[in-house]
Amino acid sequence: MTLGFDTLQVHAGAKPDPATGARQIPIYQTTAYCFRDADHAAKLFNLEEVGFIYSRLTNPTVAALQDRIAALEGGAGAVCCSTGHAAQIMALFPLMGPGQNVVVSTRLYGGSITQFSQTIKRFGWSAKFVDIDDMDAIANAIDDDTRAVFCESIANPGGHIADLRAIADVTDKAGLPLIVDNTTATPYLCRPIEHGATLVVHSMTKYLTGNGTVMGGAVVDSGKFDWSASDKFPSLSQPEPAYHGTKFHETFGPLAFTFHGIAIGLRDLGMTLNPQAAHYTLMGIETLSLRMERHCGNAQKIAEWLERHDAVSAVTYAGLESSPYNARMAKVCPKGASGLFTVSLKGGYDACVKFVDALELFSHVANLGDTRSLVIHPASTTHRQLTEEQQKAAGSGPEVVRISIGIETADDLIADLDQALKKAG
Ligand SMILES: *Cc1c(COP(=O)(O)O)cnc(C)c1O
Repeated sequence: MTLGFDTLQVHAGAKPDPATGARQIPIYQTTAYCFRDADHAAKLFNLEEVGFIYSRLTNPTVAALQDRIAALEGGAGAVCCSTGHAAQIMALFPLMGPGQNVVVSTRLYGGSITQFSQTIKRFGWSAKFVDIDDMDAIANAIDDDTRAVFCESIANPGGHIADLRAIADVTDKAGLPLIVDNTTATPYLCRPIEHGATLVVHSMTKYLTGNGTVMGGAVVDSGKFDWSASDKFPSLSQPEPAYHGTKFHETFGPLAFTFHGIAIGLRDLGMTLNPQAAHYTLMGIETLSLRMERHCGNAQKIAEWLERHDAVSAVTYAGLESSPYNARMAKVCPKGASGLFTVSLKGGYDACVKFVDALELFSHVANLGDTRSLVIHPASTTHRQLTEEQQKAAGSGPEVVRISIGIETADDLIADLDQALKKAG
C-alpha cells in the first residue's frame, strides 16, 4: 500500500464527477444507464467492457464504495450488498452446492449462528461448528465436502480474537478459502488478508457507516486464491452455465470472485445495496480511523473501570491485561480491540435486565458500532433463539450484557454505568 489508511479512507474510489465536477461522490439515484449504441450494450452484457447496465448489478455510487472498501482491506475487489447477512450468503454462494458444508466458529454474532445452523439448510448447505482456537478441531472438521472456513476476527459479542494466521495455515493446507467477518475490527484495526484470509465480509451497518443510519454489507476478495487448483469450485473454474459458459477464473483472474458476485450473485439473488445507503456509508468511512481510535480509547478506560467494580464478575475486553486474548491482540489488531465487549454481572439474569433498564445515556438497542453507546442483554434478545449451550459457546450466557462503547466523553459513560449498576443491586 503506497497511500496511508487515513488518505485512502477519504480518497479511494472517489474522483470529481466527470459530468459536473462535483467534489463529493454524487448519489446516482438511477435504475438504468443509456447505452451508446447496440454494440456497446452487447459488450456490456458479454462482460467484454465494464460499465453500467442496471442498478441491481452496478451503480456508480455503490462502485465508489466497493473500490474504497477493497482499498482499505487490501483486496483485489469488493461487492457491496444490502446487509451483512446478505454478504455472508454472497460469500458462500459461488463456493457451495447442495450437500456441501462450511466449517464455522462457535463464537459468532447470534444472527450468524442462526443463519448457518438453520437457514442455509434450505439450500442443501450445512455448517460444522468448531472451537476456532483449536487448530486440530478445525482440521478434523474439514472433509471432502467442505468448501470454506468462516470466523470473525474480533468476535461479537465476546471480543475473542481469532489467530487468523494459524487458521489460514490450516485452510491453505486443505486448499480451502478462509472467510473472515471483519465487522467488529474494521480494516483500521485488522486487515485479515494480510493474515492469510481469502475473503473478508462486513456488516457495514456497524462501524463502517458508524452512526446507526443504514444497513449494508460487503464481500472483499483478496484475489489470491487459486480457484482452479482443484475441482472444488466449478462455478469459478469451469464454464458457468448461469453466464453462458464463462470461465470466471480463466477470464478475470484475480477479479473472478468479484465479477461472479456482480454478474451472477447480485443479478440472480438481488441483494443489492441502494445508492443512498452507499452514500451514507462513504461519508462514515471518511472518519473511520478517527472514530475507531476514540472507540478503542473509551472502551479501554471503561473496561478497566468495570473490571474493578464490585457488581462485576468478568469483563471480556481483549485490551485488558487480564484477557487471555491480550497477547494475540498484539499480533492481530495491535492498534486496539475495538469498542465492543461483554460484562458479566454477579446478580445474573435479573440484575442484567435491571441494569439495562436503568441506563440513561446508553441506548438499549440491537445494534453496535454506533457513535452512541449501546447496550443489550443477548440472552433475552439477540441470542434468545439459541439454546443455553449455544449462548454460552457464543459468550452470551444469561449473566452477560453486551456493551458497544461510543465516542462520547468516557467519564459521562462511566457515571451512567455507575448509577445503573447501583440500581441493579
Ligand atoms: C450485525 C452483524 C452481522 C449482520 O449484519 P447485518 O448488517 O445486520 O445484516 C454479521 N456479523 C457481525 C459480526 C455483526 O455484528
